[in-house]
Amino acid sequence: MNDAQSDPTHAGACHCGAVRMKLPSTPEVATACNCSLCRRIGGPWVYFEFGTVEIQGHPEATAAYIWGDKTMRTIHCKTCGCVTHWEPLEPTPGCKHGVNLGNFDPQLIASVRVRRFDGADTWTFIDE
Ligand SMILES: [Zn+2]
Repeated sequence: MNDAQSDPTHAGACHCGAVRMKLPSTPEVATACNCSLCRRIGGPWVYFEFGTVEIQGHPEATAAYIWGDKTMRTIHCKTCGCVTHWEPLEPTPGCKHGVNLGNFDPQLIASVRVRRFDGADTWTFIDE
């Protein structure tokens, strides 16, 4: 989509506004994961190539949480606590990172098909 860059629904922020994000394109599918961390955070998650999402206020205004096999850090705002995104600890070319779509325009969230992912057990989509 050519007008994706100027579409205001692609801009999101944590609740207090200290962390701001801008998506490089319109997501069509998001993932709702039931793993021990995601089921607490919420989401849903959308994925982009690492480095393509414009993020302001990170890492100055954020804190990171690292767990499990320690391949990624989950980032939240130090002020309001909202989880904004996760990123790989050791980025490789073309790798992905996840953005918490809950920080974006409700119209954008409503327009995206949310798929249920069984991150707790089988690591497969369980909605179809
Ligand atoms: Zn905040």
